[in-house]
Formats: sequence, structure tokens, C-alpha cells
Amino acid sequence: MAHLTEHTFAEPTEVEPGILRLTLPLPTGPRHVHCYFLAGEDGWTLVDTGLGLMETPWDAILARLDGPVARIFVTHMHPDHVGGAEAAAEATGAPVFQGGLDYEQCERVWGSERWPERIADWFLRNGVPAPVAEELIQSGHVFADFVRFAWNPSLVEAGEEVDGWRIHATPGHADGHLVLHRGDVLIAGDTLLTPITPAIGLYPESRPDPLGDYLDSLELVAKLGPRISYGGHGDPVTDPAGRCGEIAAHHAERLDRTESALSGVPRTGYEVSHDLFGDALPPIQRRFAVAEALSHLERLVVAGRAERDGDGRVVTYTARSPGGRAPL
Ligand SMILES: [Zn+2]
Repeated sequence: MAHLTEHTFAEPTEVEPGILRLTLPLPTGPRHVHCYFLAGEDGWTLVDTGLGLMETPWDAILARLDGPVARIFVTHMHPDHVGGAEAAAEATGAPVFQGGLDYEQCERVWGSERWPERIADWFLRNGVPAPVAEELIQSGHVFADFVRFAWNPSLVEAGEEVDGWRIHATPGHADGHLVLHRGDVLIAGDTLLTPITPAIGLYPESRPDPLGDYLDSLELVAKLGPRISYGGHGDPVTDPAGRCGEIAAHHAERLDRTESALSGVPRTGYEVSHDLFGDALPPIQRRFAVAEALSHLERLVVAGRAERDGDGRVVTYTARSPGGRAPL
């Protein structure tokens, strides 16, 4: 890709009339996250809030706006989107709107002491060796310190509107992910990104086929047919339908690679993650790699291209042999 977005951190920048982009730093991954201010009659709607402990200078940011923030909308419960919600709500005095399913998962993951234990059990069940599982838990725990979500937000659902923006459900990157659509503009959260592709992982106590969900969400976005899509990371997508097709093709190819990693010999999601993403990942990336391998394995199971087995202790996958169970 020829150009990269230049990021001016913590300064709202107009991307088109009535839409400002606020870019906040992240310690890992794409190193930045975009929030948006959408103009409305009674003030701005802030979409997403960055992390909670980065000392976001909300007062200085708000002072640059020509009016109040009337409401805050959270696209999904990942740390870089929901983590700053409490601080943003305090600084603005505005109500927070979040999807019902998304908030339920948000509370379960970030509001519960027991979540790290639950996710540790789940990693072990998917073949992660105990010492590695320990590392994965610790690396995941780092994020918990950055999450200060807003308790008891106003819950919203697909089909409703927020200040004239229609809410659509786009499960996949997160089960309860919501996007906003008005006119020919989509505020996409992490549903549609460029140049990176959104991570699609399977997690415990979540919807069973997140990749299937996500491919449906791409179809929905392509059908909405926006002129432009503003996402949580990277560049605006200027050909959203085309980008949906590219990302779907990327997953089709990865599904093929996942299928070819299988045989009659049972393999775990952890093992398959090495085939797909190599052996040399640091723990934080291995965590995503295992979740991503599992989302592809489960899609193959649903599509009849793989079988899920296991001995009750560890979940394994085998290639689907024509007409019956794969021989061991
Ligand atoms: Zn994100």
C-alpha cells in the first residue's frame, strides 16, 4: 500500500464535514486506535474511547470541539475501544450507549476476577501446554489494567438509531460488535479495516462460529454499500464492498490452509496455530493465533470439512474423510 495514515495523537481531525477522527496511542498491536466525533443537533456523538490508563487528556480534547459531547457509543468490548469509556463519560457527562450482548460479555470478561482462570482452563482444553497457558494468561492480564469500562450503560440493539445513525450488528471480531450507518457513511469499529484484517478468534462462552458470523457481517456491509467506512485502526476504506470481498478471500485461503493442516491424526487448536502462524510468536500473539486457528477450525466443522473430537479433556480436530469419520 502506497500511503500510510499519519497520526496526530489526541487531536480531533476532520475527515469529512461533520466527522472528526481522534487517534489515541496503544502500547501494542497497531499502536493506535481511532475514535470518532459525529456532529449532531444537540452535540457530538463520540464513538469509542481508547484505553483506560493511558491518561487520555479528555479535557484538552473536548476543549477543541465547538460543542458538547451529547453521547458516547461503544462499538465493542475490546480494551482499546471500551477501556476509556468511564473516563470519557466522566469528562463529558454524557451517557454511554453499548450493545446488550456486548455489555454482558464486557462485564463477564473485564468485571470478573474469575475470567483469567476460565480462559486458562479453556486454553488447556485446546492443547496449550500448561507453562505456555500461564504465559498467555499473564499477557492477557496486562490489558485488564487498561480497561475502565462504563458500568450500566444504556443498552442498544441492531435496528435502533443513535442520533440518526442506524445501528447494525456485525458479529465476528466480537460477538456483540455494532456499527453505525447513515447516508453513505459507515462507522465500522473493527469490522472493516485496511491495511490490516480484523482478528477473528474463538473464545470461551462466546458464539460458536465467529468466522461464519464474520463472513455474514462482511456480506451485510457490502450490501449496505457505503461510499466510505471509517474503522478503529488504519486507513479509511474507500471501497468498502471491495474490501469486504478481499477479506472474505483472505479467510477462504486461510480456511484451505487450516484444512490442509489436518489429517486422520487428531490435532489441537494450539498445534494448528503453529502451522498457520509459525513457531516463533511471543505469548500475546500466540494467544490471538490459537483463538484464530480455532475460529477457522470451527468454521470447517460447521461446513462439514473437519471433525471435532477429543477425549473429554482435550479438544482435537481431524480431517473429514468422505462418507464418515476420519480413521485414526
Ligand atoms: Zn480495535
